[in-house]
Amino acid sequence: MNITIVGTGYVGLVTGTTLAELGNSVYCVDIDEKKVEGMKNGVVPIYEPNLEEMFHRNIQSQRLFFTTNLKEALDKSEVVYLALPTPPGEDGSADLSYVLGVASDIGDLMTEYKVIVNKSTVPVGTAEKVTEVISSRTDIAFDVVSNPEFLREGFAVEDSMNPARVVVGSSSEKAKEIMSKIYQPFTNTGIPIIFMDEKSSELTKYASNSFLAVKITFMNEIANYCEKVGADVDKVRLGMGSDDRIGHRFLFPGIGYGGSCFPKDVKALIKSGKQEDFNFQILEATENVNVAQKVILVSEIEKYFEGNLKGKKIAIWGLAFKANTDDIREASSLDNIDLLLKKGAEIIAYDLVAENNVRNIIGDQIQYAKTMYDALEGADALFIATEWPEFKNPNFELMAKKMKSKVIFDGRNMFPLEVPKQNGFYYKSIGRQTIL
Ligand code: NAD
Repeated sequence: MNITIVGTGYVGLVTGTTLAELGNSVYCVDIDEKKVEGMKNGVVPIYEPNLEEMFHRNIQSQRLFFTTNLKEALDKSEVVYLALPTPPGEDGSADLSYVLGVASDIGDLMTEYKVIVNKSTVPVGTAEKVTEVISSRTDIAFDVVSNPEFLREGFAVEDSMNPARVVVGSSSEKAKEIMSKIYQPFTNTGIPIIFMDEKSSELTKYASNSFLAVKITFMNEIANYCEKVGADVDKVRLGMGSDDRIGHRFLFPGIGYGGSCFPKDVKALIKSGKQEDFNFQILEATENVNVAQKVILVSEIEKYFEGNLKGKKIAIWGLAFKANTDDIREASSLDNIDLLLKKGAEIIAYDLVAENNVRNIIGDQIQYAKTMYDALEGADALFIATEWPEFKNPNFELMAKKMKSKVIFDGRNMFPLEVPKQNGFYYKSIGRQTIL
């Protein structure tokens, strides 16, 4: 099948490459000329494990193409995926201007029947809005389908090639048939495709992300309470997770959730609720708890340094919002850096792949280290902000040699307590005893 993907970010590029891998001809459209030029020259614009190989393979097989020209791509495709940003507007609601803007362009440019598949995360009722916009520009027949994306950054290729399920919201038999054909390689291997109406499909995405945000936040509150009463959240977590109604996943406490999805999707669902005179109380609490959780260790750092962080050198391991990605949108590291700088600390940070993205935002307000150990040179404390596997089993002897004081604030509970203890470190993590 010939498919256009509009927007080649984390979702669009991975979806496009996956659909090409499944044998389709895929035309990826983006307005960012530099990005498109780069991709034409074989440059993958984002970091995702295993993406590069699949990207090159499909370019070579002439199944994956890049252009800034929407018309050129549309003319070749019956199906058009929208993988456009839906960032939070000032009031927290999803900004639909990218999606509706492209819908309007499609209405102007299409010359025959199209299925417009919305992969962006959008509020209930957006399929109707997209339909209205396109109808106002053309008399040619088309269908709008909701097909939310559930991939996880860091595992995007794996999730895209082997999704837990495919959700398709559509009331058109013709569109459902076309979507079934596209996803036939999945259904063939037992991956379910769940058909429903457009609104339920749109809400399924928000409900899923919000549920996961609540689960993480619930565990963060349990962790904070553990510290009050002297319980150990690792033990509580294992005890809880062994119940298969609960499960072990998303029970790891830390310095809050970030990224381009959970914070904005929770906000957008709260806002959508308000528009219907409905209060998502659990989501409002989740959001408030998460905002505080992101910087919960800063007060601990201040306490440790007796209220004075002026000139204290803090090394930060990890800038990405989570491991295996270069995405720093709403990353906890940034909130902590901001607050620590305001309090007069000096920061030297290390990340495997996210340094450039941080540089683009905060430039030289902090220093950047080439290796995790370089970051520790003369440091008064180490702060761990991302759970990169590289940090899991460090050389504590080398750390002790490099650091001015053997002090770790761990926002991701990277080590069993006995490890920093045996190595003589002060160690403050989340929901566990502090090692003095
Ligand atoms: P992104 O910011 O990484 O990518 C968006 C791309 O769209 C950019 O390359 C941008 O240049 C391009 N673009 C903007 N306007 C355009 C236009 N008019 N024409 C063509 N291209 C245009 O975004 P993303 O992370 O891929 O997210 C896209 C959508 O998918 C969002 O709604 C997001 O909530 C949702 N989503 C994201 C993830 C994720 O993990 N990132 C997961 C599931 C769903």
